[in-house]
Amino acid sequence: MIRITKRVFTDLAIWMMGFGILVGIVFPFFMVVLGMDPAIAMTWWFFFVCMSAGLFVGAVNILLAQRIVGDRLKVLAKHMKDIENHLKTIAGKSEAMDCTPANCHIPVDSKDAIGASSLAFNNLVDTLAKSIQIEMDIRRYTQLLTTHLETDQLCRSALISLMEMVGAPSGAILIEEGGELRAYHTVGLTKSSSLHNNPLILNTMQTLKRTIIDIPEDILLEGVMTSFRPQQIIVEPIVYKQLPLGIVVLASNLAFRAEVLENLDLFGTSLALALHNALTHDQVQKLAAIDPLTGVYNRRFGLSRLHEEFIRAVKQNIALSVLMIDIDHFKQVNDTYGHTVGDRVLRTIASTTRSLLREGDILIRLGGDEFMVVLLGASRSDALEVGQSVRRQIEEKRIAYGEQSIHVTLSIGGSSFPELDAGHENELIEAADRALYLVKESGRNKVSV
Ligand code: GH3
Ligand code: MG
Repeated sequence: MIRITKRVFTDLAIWMMGFGILVGIVFPFFMVVLGMDPAIAMTWWFFFVCMSAGLFVGAVNILLAQRIVGDRLKVLAKHMKDIENHLKTIAGKSEAMDCTPANCHIPVDSKDAIGASSLAFNNLVDTLAKSIQIEMDIRRYTQLLTTHLETDQLCRSALISLMEMVGAPSGAILIEEGGELRAYHTVGLTKSSSLHNNPLILNTMQTLKRTIIDIPEDILLEGVMTSFRPQQIIVEPIVYKQLPLGIVVLASNLAFRAEVLENLDLFGTSLALALHNALTHDQVQKLAAIDPLTGVYNRRFGLSRLHEEFIRAVKQNIALSVLMIDIDHFKQVNDTYGHTVGDRVLRTIASTTRSLLREGDILIRLGGDEFMVVLLGASRSDALEVGQSVRRQIEEKRIAYGEQSIHVTLSIGGSSFPELDAGHENELIEAADRALYLVKESGRNKVSV
């Protein structure tokens, strides 16, 4: 239709009035054909009356169109404006769209273009609300993943928020460590200890494909892992650059919705990235703190731990002892049996000493064949006792070497706070060093604190 002005209803009015006038002009001729006396029909007066009637009908039509169609369009426009304002207020904030059918939907009460527009508007609003909700979930989830660098905390938070997002009342997260799966966190699972060798989980680790298990109502469940009867279980691999890092298990007493499964792809990718970062961070932390040969703290990290513990001991006035351990004639072991055997001896001494210490005590490889033990809360006599038991254990130990066995002894020197009124941990180290020197001088294989 040809547009006359920029306003649809004005165009409509012009067309209707024009049509009314046209009908007014044509009507008298029509009346003559129908037998009306031309002396009446062909008068200016009759023409005027007919055109006025045509104009009147046109005006009434336009009023009706405005009331019936215009008002609907106004409602649509008002709702659109409301949604626009709402979107502006929540833009950039972590807020969901406050939209329910009651406050956002337009009533759909006709089966024509207006009804179709209203329906399309309602669907659009629902889709928009859903996509804003998903965006918000992703933002919240990504934020959460980036705040944790420790694997433990990351796994816990990721699992809980994944369960929340997909509506699963129970789940587990397992991470691969040295070729084995370890359950880092589980919620609502009764047999979480057997998860790591569950065939389904192991299979998913191999195929790297999501497995969804539907459990029909009538099937008898034996050995159910969850505290409720699950209807669907998702086993989702966590994959980073084709490498399996672990598994997420989500169990629900209802079937998962289709869009939940789509979102899981998105969430899985961010989790894999965050987990990879956390695992790398753990490795770097370990490398920075651990002596690779013996697995005990290295010198740099160990001495910083001693520093912390010494400050705490002084502040809280609790005892703290230091033992310096040096292998006797270790050079000869290397010279006789070779470096690899020497390494084995170093590892044996580290593990034997560790097994004789309490949980909080610190074992450090200072370098070469020298170790340091920091005993928390241990007085001089405690330190002497621990030193003697370590010395004795090693003295009695025979380290297998082919047909023969290797035998080494230890010299141990120690010092204790507050027996030694040290102002710095270095004074304790120096005193222990002096004691060790004296032991070496006086024939080795002894302890002196
Ligand atoms: P002493 O009783 O006086 O302590 O005699 P020693 O032979 O143990 O003398 P010292 O402590 O000076 O010798 C340390 C030896 O430890 C020298 C070196 O060959 C050996 N060593 C140092 N680091 C390593 C290591 O990482 N692996 C092995 N196998 N040997 C090491
Ligand atoms: Mg030595």
